[in-house]
This record gives sequence, structure tokens and C-alpha cells, in this order.
Amino acid sequence: MIPYGRQKIDQEDIDAVVETLKSSFLTQGPKVPDFEKAICNYTGSQFSLAFNSATSALHSACLALDLAEGDILWTSPISFVASANCGLYCRAKLDFVDIDPSTNNMCPNALEKKLIESKEKGTLPKVVIPVHLSGMPCDMKKISSLAKKYNFKIIEDASHAIGSEYEGSKTGNCIYSDICIFSFHPVKIITTGEGGVALTNCNRLYNKLSLIRSHGITRDEKLMSIPPDGPWYYEQQILGYNYRMTDIQASLGISQLSKINEFILRRREIEEIYDQELSSLPILLPEKSNNAKSSLHLYIIKLRLEIAKITHKEFFDKLISKGIGVNLHYIPIYRQPYFKKLGFIKEQYTNSELYYSRAMSIPIHPSMSNKDQKTVIKAIKQTLA
Ligand SMILES: *Cc1c(COP(=O)(O)O)cnc(C)c1O
Repeated sequence: MIPYGRQKIDQEDIDAVVETLKSSFLTQGPKVPDFEKAICNYTGSQFSLAFNSATSALHSACLALDLAEGDILWTSPISFVASANCGLYCRAKLDFVDIDPSTNNMCPNALEKKLIESKEKGTLPKVVIPVHLSGMPCDMKKISSLAKKYNFKIIEDASHAIGSEYEGSKTGNCIYSDICIFSFHPVKIITTGEGGVALTNCNRLYNKLSLIRSHGITRDEKLMSIPPDGPWYYEQQILGYNYRMTDIQASLGISQLSKINEFILRRREIEEIYDQELSSLPILLPEKSNNAKSSLHLYIIKLRLEIAKITHKEFFDKLISKGIGVNLHYIPIYRQPYFKKLGFIKEQYTNSELYYSRAMSIPIHPSMSNKDQKTVIKAIKQTLA
């Protein structure tokens, strides 16, 4: 099976991990801060904190923004469930903003309309989580201008989007958000096994995130409520978690980050060939943007149901039977049994429903060979013939 995505690990990565395994610190050593500095240099953000997953980083981001019972969080229904679960962990109420059918991202006009209605009803969100699906940045200028007008905070779920660009600069610089999250799960752009990072330009949020990440404990004398009793002294100030990344993971992250340009260039080569080879089939190809560049975590095609001679499910079944590891990112979150119980009605999300009826992620990753790509293209052409 040719997978839709997978990691690319080389001898340098392995050597970096082995070196850390032989060192004094497997965790809480120098590699995590080194990785965080490298992520700041790469993105241009002022602060970065490594977490043991993007999910724990999203949870911590919600907590750092004081999301709690009685508050409301909005996100995109076309995302991984973690984009919504982070709000539920904080006992916030959840709602979804429908997507734009051309970008597959949260629709800024639908967001504005929902904000106007919610203002009248007194149900404005405290936090909005736009998701850069497939690595294509959302319309952050518009979302951030709405945040100022309607007074909500923004967490970018950029799990797919390290290496993407918006208005000529890197996603993660937090120019249009309070906090930005990347994931380092093996199918994402770079990997640490499991792992994630939270980026911010706000010193106060940085301090709060770092408390949440490590039991609510600080060892920084400047941040203590009373003068320390002695050199052993530390303070638990809030209820935190153990959401730390290990140095083993961070050393893999440092090595992976040094290859990110190469990884994304390879993804672009694959994109170009798909764009050319698949253009005359009854499918819609991913749309380009004038002011943003995708990191190409996913290559999502959409079956033109009105002209295709095959159903969406047959399209999947046929490709999987030919050894092509296609996937659907994602089942709209409100369709999950757990979320149905919360009372979401699918009829309210017309564009997400249309997306779900026809989308398919086809293989794209830096360790994919030209030969594998030819196999994928041939299988798609045969299936749609
Ligand atoms: C992968 C992913 C997450 C969760 O990332 P983990 O690092 O696996 O916790 C969250 N949101 C989106 C959009 C993702 O793709």
C-alpha cells in the first residue's frame, strides 16, 4: 500500500537520537530549549514551547486563554477531532463555522455572519480556532480583524502547516493570532514521533503555557509568590499537567527541522506532477492562493459527482484495492457519535457536507518515489476512465 503520508527518517536523524540517548538528559535537558529556539528562528515567533503532542498544546492554549465553563469555542468542522476536543476539556461550549467550498478552510464570511447573529443572542465565542487544512493558510487578516471587532482570541491549528507562508512570511509568526500550534506526528511535515509546539509573541501567555505544561510548577524566582525557603524551593501556582516533550524527541525534531525545506520542495514537485497529470479528469484539484503558499501536508481532490461515472465510495474502494492508500480528511466532526450527542445538526453545514461527499486525500510525502507517484496517477486515471 502506498500511504497518503509518512515520515522520512535518515541516518542523521537516527544519530541525533542515539547521541541524546547516550547523554545525561533524556528529558528536561538542553535539547528541548534548543528545538524551541530553532522553531522560533524558523517561524519568526518570539516564544515557543514544545509539548508531547499538538493535542496537549491545543488544550494548554485554551487554558492559557482562560477558556472555561460558560465560554464558547468555535472551530472548523473539517478538521481532526482534537481541534474541538481541546475546548471540551475546558468545559467550554462548542460550535462550528462552515467551510468555504473553494479553500476547504473556515469561511471568513460565514464566520462574520455567525458573529453578527451571535452578538444579538449574546453567544459570542471567547476563542476561535481556524485550521489550515492541508497546510493552506486560512484568511488570517480577515479573521484577525473580526477578532478585534468581536473581541475573541485566535488559536491557529497549524498542525498541517509548518513551512507554509501567508503574505510572504512563515505561518507560526503569530502576527494574526494569539497562539499557533504545530503537530509533529509522523504523517505531518516534520516529526518527533509524537509531539507538538505552541508559538506566541506574548510573554504572559508564554509563562502561563510553561506553567500548564509542567504541573503548574515554576522554579523561576522572579515568578514566585513568596521569597524561596531555600535552593530546593519550587512553587505550584495553578493546576497543570505533564505535557512535556522529551529530549529524545526534541533531538529528532532539531534534525528534522534542518531538512524541512528539502521536504517541502519534494512535496511541491509531487504537487506539480499531480496538477499536470490529473487536470483533465472529473475531479477538482486543490486551489492555489494569491497571498499564501501551502506546506502541502495533504493533496485533496474532490470528485465531480455530477459528471463522474462512479460514486465516491466506489472511487475509494477501487483505489484501495489497487494498493493506493487514499484517505478522507476529515469526517466532519459534528458527525461523530460523541458530537451528535451534543446536538449538532448536519444540515447547518452545507459546504462541509458537500466536502464530505466528494473529498479524497491522495498520497503525497517526501519519501514517495516518482515510480510510486506514477502508480497512483495510473490507478486514478483507470478508475475514472
Ligand atoms: C494531527 C492533528 C492534530 C493533533 O496532533 P497530535 O500531535 O497528533 O496531537 C490536531 N489538529 C489537526 C488539524 C491535526 O491534523
